[in-house]
Amino acid sequence: MLACVTCNSIKGSAALTLAHYYWPDEHNTFLLFDFHPLGVITVKPHLSGTVNRSIANATMALTGLDRFGSTASAADRRWVKRAEAYSKAQTIFDYYVSKGRPSDAIILITNQATSSGFWSVWMKVFETEHAVVAALKSTFLNTYLECDSKGINRV
Ligand SMILES: [Zn+2]
Repeated sequence: MLACVTCNSIKGSAALTLAHYYWPDEHNTFLLFDFHPLGVITVKPHLSGTVNRSIANATMALTGLDRFGSTASAADRRWVKRAEAYSKAQTIFDYYVSKGRPSDAIILITNQATSSGFWSVWMKVFETEHAVVAALKSTFLNTYLECDSKGINRV
């Protein structure tokens, strides 16, 4: 599975038991984590009934997704990039809403989202905007298209 150099480096090369983690190609990882404006990711305080909290925590720890500020190494800029994406998405969200949610703006939003990356951040910021959420799901290939309607297992 592809991962950025930082996630891959933190994960290391030790053998893993796949069943001890959630995987984005098998599981609906959008059910696990909350994304916050300063680039912080946390395990959701209220997990859906099908999600195992200890597996969610292990998944977080595997790649150090919860590292930010002084808990991240100087080379680990993932949280900074995530915060930048969040700020950009929030600015565009505010503009979109202030202009009365023009439907022809959605393509501009998805273009910004794909150039910035961080699908989950864009999904979080626009979570109340169903038309934008639908467009984000279909724009980012290989994301979980039913992320808000199914359980942790994709099947
Ligand atoms: Zn990464």
